[in-house]
Amino acid sequence: MKKPTSIKTRLTIWYTALMFVLITVVLGVVSTLSYQLSMDNLENDIMLQVSQISDKVGARHSMDIFYTVESDKEFKNVSIYLENGEHIVGQYIYDLTNIGFQDRVLRKETIEGETYLVYDVFKPSRPGDNRGYWIRGAESVSYSNILGKSVFVSLLFIIPIILLLTALGGYYITKKAFLPINNIIKTANDIYTINDLEQRIEINPDAREDELNNLSVTLNRMLDKIESLIKQEKQFTSDASHELRTPISVILAQGEYLLDIADTDKEKELAQNIVDKANQVSKLVSRLLLLARIDGSRQKINKEKIDLSVLIDIAADSMKELAKQKDILIIANVKENTIVNADESLLLSAVSNLISNAIKYGKETGHVVITAEKTGNKAEITVKDNGIGIAEENIDKIWDRFYRIDNVRNDEYGSSGLGLSMVKSIIELHGGEISVKSILNEGAEFRIILKD
Ligand code: ADP
Repeated sequence: MKKPTSIKTRLTIWYTALMFVLITVVLGVVSTLSYQLSMDNLENDIMLQVSQISDKVGARHSMDIFYTVESDKEFKNVSIYLENGEHIVGQYIYDLTNIGFQDRVLRKETIEGETYLVYDVFKPSRPGDNRGYWIRGAESVSYSNILGKSVFVSLLFIIPIILLLTALGGYYITKKAFLPINNIIKTANDIYTINDLEQRIEINPDAREDELNNLSVTLNRMLDKIESLIKQEKQFTSDASHELRTPISVILAQGEYLLDIADTDKEKELAQNIVDKANQVSKLVSRLLLLARIDGSRQKINKEKIDLSVLIDIAADSMKELAKQKDILIIANVKENTIVNADESLLLSAVSNLISNAIKYGKETGHVVITAEKTGNKAEITVKDNGIGIAEENIDKIWDRFYRIDNVRNDEYGSSGLGLSMVKSIIELHGGEISVKSILNEGAEFRIILKD
């Protein structure tokens, strides 16, 4: 059997079982005690009935006393037999007639599975005579007889009803008590799946101020704090990038001027270095600014009808030089008039980025294949290489900002680890999706899906 998983179910089972054990123990003790008490009373009663009758049995045909035994309820347990065991008067139970007589011995006798408390007294007709009467007092001492059948029957109904009420009531109370936990789970899931840090745990204003309610309030306060810290951090990135733009442009312009006027090879090398690094930083700052604008919903998106065959040609063309360095072949396989509704410059920079990665992480003399297709209102762009690929354990992390699988190796290309997070943000800004499939050392395939 599958184990019950929810705490509610486990708690309900636990206290219902506990209740069952408790009821059983209490009833067991109470019924044993009352059985014992009833037995004591019965013993006294039977002996009293028998001795009262035996006192009155005198002459052999004392009709009065026979009549009393027969009709008086007070002597319901008494019967009178002849010395040979023949039943004369009083309670007649067939089984009782088969029990042998013992003078003045209170005992329990079992016949056919039924136990009786039996007490006999022999009353001779005349002192010393063998003839006379046996006066017998007897009563069944089964549990139901002693405690009363109705008690058993009502217990049979009452116990299940108590258990049912315990289970239902307990389940209802725990379900209500656990409601805040469900809200916490729902909010955490929402924040995780739709990436919306503005979500808060719903708190019922009429709810009791218990531990779970306090937990929800505290978690909401913590979410407020996290959200404000993230906002501050994004604002800082945005402000810093903004401030860096002008000085970088100046360094770049002056580096290019130095390159122009450099005389010696050493001077040229130094100036080239300044220009390369300034270009790298400028690219990094532009990416940071773009990400900050998308995060802050400040990035404008100018959607228009774009022919993907043209856009991909432009992107592939701009990567020709890079591909040449590694003797990589770029194959673009897109039908003319594959139209999508997108922001041209943003989509161009996303696709160029994927192609540049395919070359950077491609093998010498390898190839990069780019395809684009439209079915219905859905366009699919793929960029596939036969390069070094991505190990499975890294595949989810490549979209993270500043994440690079191999820091040293990537430095030769001036990698920053921001490329794919920028591509992802651009695609999501378009309402599209991006995914990757890869096998280490065999290559990687990035797939963009856009919908009109
Ligand atoms: P980077 O600036 O380092 O290229 P990206 O965000 O573009 O940053 O990529 C993140 C990491 O993902 C890279 O460091 C690289 O290790 C891996 N990666 C990206 N594209 C590919 C690819 N086509 N093949 C193999 N690894 C890739």
